Amino acid sequence: MIVLIGGGTGFIGTALRKQLEVKGHKALLVSRSPGKDRVTWDEVKNNGLPQCDAVVNLTGENILNPAKRWTEDFKQVVWKSRVETTATLAEAISKASSPPSVFVGMSGVGYYPSSATAEYTEESMVEDQDYLGRLCVEWERSMGPVDGKEDGVRRAVVRTAVVLGKTGGAMSQMKWPFYFGVGGIIGSGQQYFPWIHIDDIAGIFVHAIENESISGVLNGIAPNPVTNHGFTKALGAAMWRPTLFPLPGFVVKGIFGDERAVMLLEGQKVLPKRTLESGFNFRYPDINSALKEVVS
Ligand code: NDP
Repeated sequence: MIVLIGGGTGFIGTALRKQLEVKGHKALLVSRSPGKDRVTWDEVKNNGLPQCDAVVNLTGENILNPAKRWTEDFKQVVWKSRVETTATLAEAISKASSPPSVFVGMSGVGYYPSSATAEYTEESMVEDQDYLGRLCVEWERSMGPVDGKEDGVRRAVVRTAVVLGKTGGAMSQMKWPFYFGVGGIIGSGQQYFPWIHIDDIAGIFVHAIENESISGVLNGIAPNPVTNHGFTKALGAAMWRPTLFPLPGFVVKGIFGDERAVMLLEGQKVLPKRTLESGFNFRYPDINSALKEVVS
């Protein structure tokens, strides 16, 4: 199978490519920069979709880049890098003379509102969404309808939690305070910390690409939820470090801005109900086994 991956140069894309190659598939990337086995976004817009059997979009400016201030301009970059690239692929698919059989999109668990008490699955109906929730709704909508197969293209979207891995993502920033022995809970620590191991998120994309019975929403989150306190204790234990230094909410807001700080100071309890029902087996279902691998 030839799988076209928007944003395939990134952290999740690299893991996905490796898993696809092990299974005998070939990855072709869509990137801002030209290169071997790549097409650029302009080439997709001007020349249409290259020949492929499956399309995935993992493109997106890093929201939690502390070097970027949370300005209206940066919010536009965050929004457009997700919604416009997905719409570009959806349009190219709709115009393709030989369309792929499946289109798998990315979204975030930020789709579900923060709550200390609610428990969300893929079937939960939500309202009152904040900036991140509204972004996820538009990101998903830009794929076209994800339930059903009206135009012959199967569609699925993966609502993804914070991805933990050795080579990138949130851990590349989060591990340092712990390394230096000054790690601790963030805010109250009682908020849920939605997480998934990099091998599992890449595996869910492969699962959705390969299984013809899968369409609609899959939650890309480990089946055993933890709070920020639980995560902090597990990370401290995995790194053999103390966890005595809390990071107060006002500091997080000062670094990231109020709207972004929500991602760290609030959280949601999300379960991968449909993902499990579809037959996906998590390699790292609990936080201790995941962090042991990530920090080893
Ligand atoms: P990365 O930042 O590693 O990579 C994403 C890719 O997107 C980059 O390699 C880059 O490709 C492209 N990109 C980055 N910024 C822009 C921009 N401004 N405009 C156009 N393209 C851009 O992301 P991840 O692999 O970690 O995540 C992939 C997707 O999953 C993202 O959309 C992210 O929001 C989402 N996600 C990630 C989570 C995580 O914990 N990692 C959690 C939940 C969702 P190139 O330079 O080749 O153009």
